Amino acid sequence: MNKIALVTGANRGIGFAVAEGLLKEGITVIVTSRKEKDGKVAVERLSTFGDVIYHQLDVTDVSSIKSVFDFIKTKYGKLDILINNAGINYDTWQNVQNADLDEVRKTLETNTIGPWQTIQILLPILKKSQAARIVNVSSGSGSLSSQTGNTPGYSLSKLGLNGITLQFANSLRSQGILVNSVCPGWVRTDMGGSGATRSPEKGAETIIWASLLDSNGPTGKFLRDKRIIEW
Ligand code: NDP
Repeated sequence: MNKIALVTGANRGIGFAVAEGLLKEGITVIVTSRKEKDGKVAVERLSTFGDVIYHQLDVTDVSSIKSVFDFIKTKYGKLDILINNAGINYDTWQNVQNADLDEVRKTLETNTIGPWQTIQILLPILKKSQAARIVNVSSGSGSLSSQTGNTPGYSLSKLGLNGITLQFANSLRSQGILVNSVCPGWVRTDMGGSGATRSPEKGAETIIWASLLDSNGPTGKFLRDKRIIEW
């Protein structure tokens, strides 16, 4: 059986490029999106690259994560690669002193709790893989040195995501499951804007690399450009 991968927020941006790259590696990709219509358009575009399947998934909605778990368990019995890519709210217009805490809560709910509950719920099928890999798409904004009070909610959400990466990596190390965070760099997407320096394909490169690590690859690390970086 092919390797099976699931990408969250794969209807556009970096997630879409990751799905395309994984398909080109011969991996079966479950493209997920919170809005079914958008995801199905993406699947249509991706279908020329390989074996792609659609399932709805909102990472803030436990019932939708459980539904994708049931779908994968029944259809494949395992999941080899989980890419937690979905993210929101690069809140540049705020600072720590005036931050709208309702916005911060929403950001944490999607960018931090979202990946956490997605991993928790999908873990039983990840454990059925011979060599599962979990990649959390983080950001340089999540490093300790970036907690400067600009983009307050976003930076905190990615700092938290890096912490979750480390905790899951430590708790799953003995089972051969590698868990890493990746900073894609500054990427031309709706979030990154048209002035960003990298294409979505370039942003996807290290995420794909981290999803294909062999068993002695890093775990619990923060990666950019296929190297470990400080956080
Ligand atoms: P985009 O805004 O282009 O895409 C974000 C994706 O996440 C969309 O598919 C969006 O779906 C999805 N999404 C948002 N909320 C949810 C949710 N609750 N459930 C499921 N999917 C959801 O952003 P990018 O492609 O640029 O970002 C991808 C990741 O990369 C993010 O985690 C981001 O923080 C990170 N990143 C990006 C950088 C950049 O320069 N672009 C730099 C560093 C990190 P919908 O279409 O429905 O809104």
